[in-house]
Amino acid sequence: MRRRGGSQSGSQKTYQRRKSDGRSRGTNSHGMVPVVCWERRVVEILPLQYGDAEAMPGYVHVYTGNGKGKTTAAMGLALRAAGAGWNVFIAQFGKPSPSSEVQALSRFSDRIKVRHYTGACVEQGLVESKEALASGDYGLVVLDEANVGPMLEMFGVDELIDLLDAREAHVELVVTGRYADPAVIERADLVTEMREVKHYYQQGVLARVGIER
Ligand code: ATP
Ligand code: MG
Repeated sequence: MRRRGGSQSGSQKTYQRRKSDGRSRGTNSHGMVPVVCWERRVVEILPLQYGDAEAMPGYVHVYTGNGKGKTTAAMGLALRAAGAGWNVFIAQFGKPSPSSEVQALSRFSDRIKVRHYTGACVEQGLVESKEALASGDYGLVVLDEANVGPMLEMFGVDELIDLLDAREAHVELVVTGRYADPAVIERADLVTEMREVKHYYQQGVLARVGIER
């Protein structure tokens, strides 16, 4: 089966003329749009990214709110970071079973370590997450659903703040989950609130494997 992007050689950069819609954005000086083979771009981009994780300061992201997309955004970032050669640590808190993304990410086990903590294992999760954040071994750490930890009485806000404070300066940290505590938001550098405009949950559609879990 042909891969998306066509050419297997990946060695040619070709151009196609944009339709005359009056727009010039994205075109070169000849009014042409570059068409770049996907495989070729991977080869060109990756070496430029290696090692950058340790050179950059890290920031704290919070993805919260009632709308869909918090965990998937964090997993997408994990994939991007791993693609750039970073080591990634993902801790999923409180989910009844590991979600399908864990199956997919396990294919990148040389770069991405996924741990799942619920019930009696939550305490161990806090310890291991703290180690991951403080060690500097990981360019990206994701604490999935950690925002709901205090609400579900898995751990206190103080323990979550303790994790944030343990972060080594170059580590990028993502904390997901509804009901982010004001103290967590205050410490974050980037806060995105997913706002529910509509959700089929309201039609009675529960979490589906492959889409929600
Ligand atoms: P995703 O993992 O798809 O990115 P998310 O991380 O933003 O989603 P969570 O807060 O982790 O979302 O919750 C997702 C779960 O909550 C889903 O299983 C969904 O069915 C359920 N859910 C969605 N909307 C509601 C709602 N309004 N009330 C209660 N549960 C909901
Ligand atoms: Mg989630």
